[in-house]
Parts: sequence; C-alpha cells; structure tokens
Amino acid sequence: MAHKISQDCVACGTCISECPVGAISEGDIYTIDPNACIDCGTCADVCPQGAISAE
Ligand code: SF4
Repeated sequence: MAHKISQDCVACGTCISECPVGAISEGDIYTIDPNACIDCGTCADVCPQGAISAE
C-alpha cells in the first residue's frame, strides 16, 4: 500500500519536504513512488488541497 496524489494537486510543494523517506517527486502534479512510500500519512495531513489519500 502507498499513498497517492490526485488531480486536485496544485504543486504547492507543501508535502515534499514533509515526507520522511523522500518518496514525493515534483511535476505538474506531484507523484509518490509507491515502492518508497511507507504509508505514514504525513503528506496527507499537510496537503492544503486534501489531494493525498491512501490508495
Ligand atoms: Fe512519504 Fe509518508 Fe506520504 Fe508515503 S505517506 S509519500 S512515506 S509522507
């Protein structure tokens, strides 16, 4: 299981510095590497758009 970023992402950058394992990559919308994600939920808690959820 991994968390996933939806199309609601506005690429604000809030989540990327919060991920403890560096699983989030920048882009038009940000993405999470499912192989690196440890499913901690930190990014989902900080996303101002509510764009991140458990897959
Ligand atoms: Fe990183 Fe945790 Fe979000 Fe996975 S759930 S991308 S480990 S902050």
